[in-house]
Amino acid sequence: MSNNASPGTLYLVATPIGNLDDMTFRAVNILKTADLVAAEDTRNSSVLFRHFEIKTPMTAYHEYNERTKGPELIQDLLGGKSVAVITDAGTPGISDPCYPLVKLAIEAGIRVESIPGACAAISALVISGLPVHRFRYEGFLPHKKGRQTRMLSLKEETGSIIFYESPHRVVKLLEEIKEFLGERNVSVSRELTKKFEETIRGPVSDVLAILKSKEHKGEFVVVIEGLSDRRRPNED
Ligand code: SAM
Repeated sequence: MSNNASPGTLYLVATPIGNLDDMTFRAVNILKTADLVAAEDTRNSSVLFRHFEIKTPMTAYHEYNERTKGPELIQDLLGGKSVAVITDAGTPGISDPCYPLVKLAIEAGIRVESIPGACAAISALVISGLPVHRFRYEGFLPHKKGRQTRMLSLKEETGSIIFYESPHRVVKLLEEIKEFLGERNVSVSRELTKKFEETIRGPVSDVLAILKSKEHKGEFVVVIEGLSDRRRPNED
């Protein structure tokens, strides 16, 4: 690797959130031609690699090694290597490791490109039936400390609000929405793009009753109606 080489490009490559057919041609090409792929979980991504016959060397980049691995990847990029970042699913950076690396890369004058594709938050929002003209992405709420404060801080939010949640906490999340934000319309999507994809829409009490009535497995996105559309139902 020469120190005089022009820096390589850092690619943030979106991967499917369940359905491998959602992989884009460009994503496959970039992963095949990059010098190195930094994956959140190399074992998990090897399934994707096998499916698309990608043979590029992989290295692990995740929240537990990002402090040491980030600067190493920057050295690779400065040395002329192109690096593609992938996570277990969806768009890197969206509740997934990536932001610190992007920041380091920009500071080092490295070109950063997004290879767009699946993102659970956007998929759930557009099918929610709730307003999409403005929305607030909240990702995962903290499990304990600060959870209530974060929820209360959303009380006056006028755009739709998007949460990610695990199956064993989704009922708790809806109970908190009802308690802290009041009765609102919500849309709960699970297993997006997969065989058992399902979206339950309606007032939070009704959706809670449905979720409590039987076991619902899988990964969830919860979209909540913002305040303004309740006050001004005729707004666009
Ligand atoms: N980077 C990903 C993205 O672009 O959507 C999100 C990664 S985050 C660690 C994982 C969370 O995303 C899950 O707990 C769930 O809330 C949501 N998620 C991912 N895939 C999903 C799917 N197929 N259906 C519903 N929610 C999903």
